[in-house]
Amino acid sequence: MRQTQTNNFAKLDREDFPQFHGGWVWLVGAGPGAPGLMSLLAYHAMQHCDIVVYDALVNPDILRWVPEGVDKEYAGKRGGKPSPEQKDISLRLIELAKAGKRVLRLKGGDPFMFGRGGEESQTLAKAGVPFRIVPGITAGVGGLAYAGIPATHRDTNHAVIFLTGHDATGKMPANVNWQAIATAAPVIVMYMGDKNLGEIAAALIAAGRPADHPVTIVSNASLPIQSVVSTILSQAGDYVKTHEPPTPAIVVIGHASDWRPLLDWYSPELMENKLG
Ligand code: SAH
Repeated sequence: MRQTQTNNFAKLDREDFPQFHGGWVWLVGAGPGAPGLMSLLAYHAMQHCDIVVYDALVNPDILRWVPEGVDKEYAGKRGGKPSPEQKDISLRLIELAKAGKRVLRLKGGDPFMFGRGGEESQTLAKAGVPFRIVPGITAGVGGLAYAGIPATHRDTNHAVIFLTGHDATGKMPANVNWQAIATAAPVIVMYMGDKNLGEIAAALIAAGRPADHPVTIVSNASLPIQSVVSTILSQAGDYVKTHEPPTPAIVVIGHASDWRPLLDWYSPELMENKLG
């Protein structure tokens, strides 16, 4: 069995992957955490880059796949804080690319999903640095799957909202139409939601969302330390203050979590496997 797996991986080297040219930046999503959730393109990029510039949310177990001798540079920042360094990160990427390096910018989840990949690629484009985006499995979909929560289900929701729990200053996002958010989709998947959850829950309830709507918080999704807790919308803020669920955490508001008792497949036994 192990032999077969090794051979299949070796075969990857002969596949026609896109060439990683010097002077290019690849913005790559590493997925929610479990190394097995990385894409083949992400894996390929790791084998052919000169430097990896990685985020705080990238699981160190994923960096194990970067060959020895490749530089690894931490460019971490946790959301919610004012972030003057974002400019510095983008400038660093430009500097490395202009020096002719093959730069792998590795981000948690998907680079374009609340990951500032938009801003970074925008800066690269303006600087004339060629880049490629390698999408990743986002925590708000793949992470939930590890908790037995389908982001959509025909019996529960025909729409889903992806929401951020704070803006660039760390406050509850101001330019959001809470009325629309509260009523537009039965399920809301909130990133970075833990800190302002009380305030956001109150805004949603004031805008017509039922106070007893289930709220499920999935921490460290897809990792062996994954944990999941549940409450209801009207109590969510207090719950988070009292219990301080571990971060990173995804918050799901709505009945998507009703499926969890039946679909909770990620058992402690499976968690022993570090790849996912
Ligand atoms: N680009 C990332 C999101 C970055 S924003 C993506 O597509 O997933 C950071 C937020 O993502 C965290 O605050 C948390 O809400 C969520 N997140 C990322 N990884 C997570 C994980 N393993 N478990 C739970 N939430 C996670």
